[in-house]
Amino acid sequence: MIINDHTDWLEIDLGAFKKNIEKMKEITGRPVMAVIKANAYGHGLAEIAKAALQGGASICGVARVEEAFRIRRKGIHGKMLVLGGAMADSIPFALAEDVSLTISDPVTAKIFSDEAVRLGGVVHVHAKVDTGMNRLGVPVEEGIEFLRLLKSLPGLRVDGLFTHFARADEVNAGTTEIQLDRYNRFLTDVRGAGLLPPLVHAANSAASLFFPAARYDMVRPGIALFGINPAEDAVLPDGFTPIMEWKTRLISIKDIPAGSGISYGHKYTTTHTERVGVIAVGYADGFRRVEGNKVLIRGRYAPVLGSVCMDQCMVSLDDIPDARLEDEVVLIGSQGGKQISAEMIAHKWGTIAYEVVCGLTARLPRIYR
Ligand code: PLP
Repeated sequence: MIINDHTDWLEIDLGAFKKNIEKMKEITGRPVMAVIKANAYGHGLAEIAKAALQGGASICGVARVEEAFRIRRKGIHGKMLVLGGAMADSIPFALAEDVSLTISDPVTAKIFSDEAVRLGGVVHVHAKVDTGMNRLGVPVEEGIEFLRLLKSLPGLRVDGLFTHFARADEVNAGTTEIQLDRYNRFLTDVRGAGLLPPLVHAANSAASLFFPAARYDMVRPGIALFGINPAEDAVLPDGFTPIMEWKTRLISIKDIPAGSGISYGHKYTTTHTERVGVIAVGYADGFRRVEGNKVLIRGRYAPVLGSVCMDQCMVSLDDIPDARLEDEVVLIGSQGGKQISAEMIAHKWGTIAYEVVCGLTARLPRIYR
């Protein structure tokens, strides 16, 4: 039986996603690695992987081997790179399913190579160097030695070389130029040593769009493909559109007398007889338990009253007297010419839009069009 009387759900526009990929290719003039880790930034891993490859991405980037496994299990055979850490236990899968792994230290490199040789295969890898993010990667000063080691290991084949920027979304911070300079000087040495792999990459969304010198052989955007700005001051150019709407429904309407506490902790008390609606969304869906949330009903903003519960929250319908049971409620998206974006919610929650969409939980059905 298929249940489709959803009370809260995500609507995801795969056509708009593909257009965003096209736009990224058009602006950068480079092939795109679509970064779709973390359940494709909350949008649903396998469907987005399929759409990315259909929409012209050359390769998908994920963070975990587990994500690559889930994509392959859906019968999606496109190129894939695991950007995060992998364990030696993953080598049989990487070999069998032709999934590339990131190599970011010499010890792991030797272990992976030994395991691949033992299994009679060669693992495809991208080598990562650290130019200033101080996360994964061999310090760039040790990069040549590292690439020499990788070349000498019989169980590895180095298809790519990459680094990652710490502050590309702060366009005027000055640190991206410093990282670029380190990377460029390193690449000159790599070329001189005859160790340059076929693909050099570096740019996340912000670097792809705002630092043309960071584009190298391929760009590696995530957030921009979902139509979300990398930061408040790093706004996507025209032509990118958000691809997700988050909706729920009004499941109860009551007139609550003046002086009544609403929800857990009675953090809100009615000052008059107030029309209060219950909507079917809660923190178990990713709607954060903070003050100041609002939603759209019948094209008007309705403030959330009191604490967000696990599965529901209450909204004021005082300004929406025409609201009716089962009305569609928009948490992210537009209605009647008004809009709530992931960026607006992030601002309210004191976080980044990445965290808002990555926090949308598995309970939410994803509906694709
Ligand atoms: N490359 C790496 C290594 C990443 O970790 C990420 C995401 O954090 C990206 C690319 C894509 O970044 P963004 O979503 O900012 O485009």
